[in-house]
Amino acid sequence: LVIVYTGNGKGKTSAAFGNVFRALGHGMKVLVVQFLKGDWGYGDCGEQKSAVRHKNLQLVQCGRGFCGILGDNKPRKEHRLAAQHALDLAQKKISSGAYDLVVLDEIHCALSQRLLKSKQIVRLLKNKPDKTHVILTGRGAPAWLLRVADLVTEMKEIKHPFRRGITARRGIDY
Ligand code: ATP
Ligand code: MG
Repeated sequence: LVIVYTGNGKGKTSAAFGNVFRALGHGMKVLVVQFLKGDWGYGDCGEQKSAVRHKNLQLVQCGRGFCGILGDNKPRKEHRLAAQHALDLAQKKISSGAYDLVVLDEIHCALSQRLLKSKQIVRLLKNKPDKTHVILTGRGAPAWLLRVADLVTEMKEIKHPFRRGITARRGIDY
């Protein structure tokens, strides 16, 4: 299946990790590639700390942190190279046929920031082995992806503590 978690509410990455947890329970091999997340600001990230405890889970953070928001002043080229590296890696690992589930976390954000091209993702999904499920997460999934995906869920914000100035909580947000 090709699964999309999108929308402005919280829960996209969490939902993907819920699926990861299930898949691991069945002894399936799982790969998570995180776009944007990486190097700084995510050093204390819970999913990464958990990943090292599961031999069937490989988690790779390929990003360079926030892109175009929250005071980011790194050159776009740096973000683009990181996103392209993440996609190449995902492509290679998917075509190896070694994984039952692959999560491309925040890939929609990399796409809407134009760090990746749609046709690259089209190609990746088209060439994936039948047995490999792919989950794509991030706000702003493009319309073409909603059409080709088998399952699309939109997280809708009803309420978020951020609105009251409550920042990210350990174990809940990272
Ligand atoms: P999570 O990783 O918690 O499942 P997410 O993947 O749905 O969240 P992202 O867009 O990836 O959300 O944002 C990552 C961070 O932003 C998380 O710390 C999350 O709690 C926070 N966040 C999610 N939705 C909102 C929102 N509507 N307003 C403010 N912050 C949000
Ligand atoms: Mg997320």
